[in-house]
Amino acid sequence: MPATLWLCLALLAVPALAAAQPISPEAAQQLAQASFREYLERLALPNDAINPPDIQRNVDFLERAFKARGFTTRQLENQGKPMLFAEWPAAAAGAKTVLYYMHVDGQPVVDREWSQPSPWRPVVKQRGAGGGWDIVPSDALFAPVLDPELRVFARSASDDKAPIMMLLAAFDGLRAAGAEPANRVKVLIDTEEEKGSPSIRGVVTRHKDLLRCDALIIQDGPRHPSERPTIVFGNRGAARVTLVVYGPRQPLHSGHFGNYVPNPAVRLARLIATMKDDQGRVTIAGYYDRVRLTAADRKLLAESGDDEPAIRRRAGIKTAERVGGNLQEALQYPSLNVLGMAAASVGDKASNVIPHQAIAEFDLRTTPESPPDYLFGLVQKHIEARGYHLVNGPPSDQDRASYDKLATLTLGTAGRAVRTPIEAPVGAWALAALRQTSLRGEPVRIRMMGGSVPTDSLVEVLGAPFLIVPLVNGDNNQHTFDENMRIGHYVEGIRAITGLLRSPY
Ligand SMILES: [Zn+2]
Repeated sequence: MPATLWLCLALLAVPALAAAQPISPEAAQQLAQASFREYLERLALPNDAINPPDIQRNVDFLERAFKARGFTTRQLENQGKPMLFAEWPAAAAGAKTVLYYMHVDGQPVVDREWSQPSPWRPVVKQRGAGGGWDIVPSDALFAPVLDPELRVFARSASDDKAPIMMLLAAFDGLRAAGAEPANRVKVLIDTEEEKGSPSIRGVVTRHKDLLRCDALIIQDGPRHPSERPTIVFGNRGAARVTLVVYGPRQPLHSGHFGNYVPNPAVRLARLIATMKDDQGRVTIAGYYDRVRLTAADRKLLAESGDDEPAIRRRAGIKTAERVGGNLQEALQYPSLNVLGMAAASVGDKASNVIPHQAIAEFDLRTTPESPPDYLFGLVQKHIEARGYHLVNGPPSDQDRASYDKLATLTLGTAGRAVRTPIEAPVGAWALAALRQTSLRGEPVRIRMMGGSVPTDSLVEVLGAPFLIVPLVNGDNNQHTFDENMRIGHYVEGIRAITGLLRSPY
């Protein structure tokens, strides 16, 4: 009997599908297996957004996949890298609209780094006796009993082509069962996410009506390291700040002028040292003031299940900074991080000079209540209070004659932080669906993750509450070589998405 027919019969025979019961792991496995050929085909399509024709091929392929399942689709023009919009045509009267966001583009690849012939030729691997990964025939994906530990290796195997495929497979399940999603379903596939989604604000603004929704579900990134189902309610933003401290007009001989002309590298170091204390807390006045955590927030943050001793071991540090009582709490505050410092040269290139300037590059991780402008203003005040006169670019003769300490402080690119309240109805909806489909215990709720995603514009323009529901394994090597998708997670992802599709929001 053909696998697909068997699948349809199997699904129709499962009365559990009629109600809001989760589909069985066996049914999810069948759906996964029915989708693997398409998944592998899609992974063979290069998808670096630097090359628009590649993106167009991916979008065309996906458009056909959504259409074949009964979605109406539209390519949203974007300078040769159209984003894909898809909508399920039917919805119950009064049903709320959920917009699922994913991306089809991927990070660049360096072929020779990969332990397989090409990152564009997906391979199936299993762990060998020595702990390494061995290529096995891809037939393994179609075995009657599917080994959840198998992995598919290819660029974007997890980030972010797998979640798109899981969604399509979940719809295959609904269709086979003659069921409809409980909510109106829209899908937006970004094509420049890995480039920071520079065009998303424009595209979403131009198609605001088309994309209108009551909730936005972002399916990207890995689950919490505990591998429990994960819901992320927000993310910090990131703001770049550059500080230049000026010294003499040009580099000067350190023998002739050492002890006489102040060194800007030393001044920069002293200045940065005033910005944080020995425990890593930012000492700039007001930096943390706007963050308010309730007792309930603190409880949730303490319950994340992070294995902090393991995290510290991995990082190679004995003691963590003391910004919060635990990792999750630390991430609720804005941070001030030195990305790099430079003055003249080191090593073989070092020469006997007092440098003419010293530069530090910072990233400030922002929170919804402490946006980039606010934090930048505090840093500026702090520097001025230490006797610096701030100038826009290299100082003039008059500046040099008038002030001892001169510096330039510049705010660069800045993404905003966004956060959905933990108690928002969208959170309760997703939590219930994930709880019901979880095979790994209680879902983890992350109040706000530390990293930034380029979806702030999306959330801002659409004005809908959003959640990130990541589905892929944490050790997927996304953004680097040997990216992979664990098959057990793929199957669980189909169950989770089916759960979301079938529960009314
Ligand atoms: Zn991604």
